[in-house]
Amino acid sequence: MTERKVRVRFAPSPTGPLHIGGVRTALYNYLFAKQNGGDLIFRIEDTDSNRFVPGAEEYIIESFKWLGIKFDEGVSFGGNYGPYRQSERKDIYKKYVKQLLDAGKAYMAFDTPEELDAKRNEIENFQYDAKTRGMMRNSLTLPKEEVERMLAEGCQYVVRFKIEPGRDVHVDDLIRGDVNINSSILDDKVLYKSADELPTYHLANIVDDHLMEVTHVIRGEEWLPSAPLHVLLYEAFGWADTMPRFAHLPLLLKPVGNGKLSKRDGDKLGFPVFPLEWHDPKTGEVSSGYREKGYLPEAVVNFLALLGWNPGNDQEVMSMDELIRLFDLSKCSKSGARFDYVKGIWFNHQYLLQKDNSEWVPEFDKVLRQNGIEATAEQEAAVVGMMKQKVVEYVDNDGNKKKRNVSFVSDLWPLCSFFFTAPKAYDKEDKFVRKNWKETAAADMEELAGILQSLDDFSVESQRNAIDSWAEATGKKPWNAWRVCLVGTGQGPDMYELSAFLGKEETIKRIKSAIEQLN
Ligand code: GLU
Repeated sequence: MTERKVRVRFAPSPTGPLHIGGVRTALYNYLFAKQNGGDLIFRIEDTDSNRFVPGAEEYIIESFKWLGIKFDEGVSFGGNYGPYRQSERKDIYKKYVKQLLDAGKAYMAFDTPEELDAKRNEIENFQYDAKTRGMMRNSLTLPKEEVERMLAEGCQYVVRFKIEPGRDVHVDDLIRGDVNINSSILDDKVLYKSADELPTYHLANIVDDHLMEVTHVIRGEEWLPSAPLHVLLYEAFGWADTMPRFAHLPLLLKPVGNGKLSKRDGDKLGFPVFPLEWHDPKTGEVSSGYREKGYLPEAVVNFLALLGWNPGNDQEVMSMDELIRLFDLSKCSKSGARFDYVKGIWFNHQYLLQKDNSEWVPEFDKVLRQNGIEATAEQEAAVVGMMKQKVVEYVDNDGNKKKRNVSFVSDLWPLCSFFFTAPKAYDKEDKFVRKNWKETAAADMEELAGILQSLDDFSVESQRNAIDSWAEATGKKPWNAWRVCLVGTGQGPDMYELSAFLGKEETIKRIKSAIEQLN
């Protein structure tokens, strides 16, 4: 067999916002395509019209644009294998359904939902298969004339795949190795429904992967049970030679304990399970997204890449280019990957610190405006520079107060309002104030204000020279009381930096009002 160009696809059904697990699947497809010089296709699997949700397709496209996962062809990207939306490929599927019918590998079944229900009540664990199809109303059991009559009358039917029992079906999975099941446990899956003239997922998926010359099917573990059926379909069509290689990715597990990650876990613990905020068109419910929460796309990509794979050493921070170079599909784990959202926050911290202060400004400016503050870009960048290495308090899942590094631009606000607004009132009961506003504080601060007033140059250096030598000469330690004046509590950067940022007038004004209020 000649080497085929690597072609992979991401094939979501537009049934709502893209789950974070789907993003990981797309990412792995992207990494695999890029490292092999191959193509990544974006196909929309919308044959189940009952589950169609308006806006979902656009949402998915926007998500990948934000994340920097680029498709080579597909819906909205064009390409030579289109159309890429399955609802626009009806006629193509019909041809292949006919092929299976003509070859006797599929048959038409006329059983009504009521008849199927009756059978289910009559026979325990009923499934439509080699054992039961003989007692049902289908083109295998009914006389040919009867079938023709029903078709002419426009009776609805489904086409079922005729699975031969007693065969070992092997799925050769790049992650899981040889997965082997016996065909007797499979049911005669519905491939096509006359009612809407549409194929089911299974048929459309196989036909499209074949026609689009897909070489590798990389998808979530939840599709593994369908894989034996897919192998049999490839055989039935005579396409076994060009059947794609399969790779079923490990499940994403809850942050705590076992079980599949769900939206509820995110709601409970306060992390998003969708890349972008999603506004449900039916219920109006809004679900949070990584983008709106202030995550950087490169942090999300890096975090997701390591859920189910690692480079074999302890390297964690990797750019997209490095991921493309290092990713190894065959080294993905078989067992589920715990969704450690705290690690995701850690990645955001890492990537945020790689940015220049000025790159924080647009987002920081938004946060400030939401709090009624207007400042210049220079001021904002300066505050970022002074505060980005700080820690913030947060309340963990058990209600405990904890600390972590600044990991989002929005983390800065509670740390830095005093840069922009003077303390409204000085709280004598504040722990820091109580400890640092001593008897001599008012007099010391008067003296300090006098020195500052006399400075022509209000730079950090100039202030440091003047105050340090005064402190040395007198044995005073003015810094904590000074902090009380400018901040109101025990927060903030170096005092000279803060005072230089505020400027002479504002600094002295705050010192005076602190003296007034605290004495
Ligand atoms: N349409 C399926 C989904 O929503 C595609 C599964 C596959 O990749 O075969 O995930």
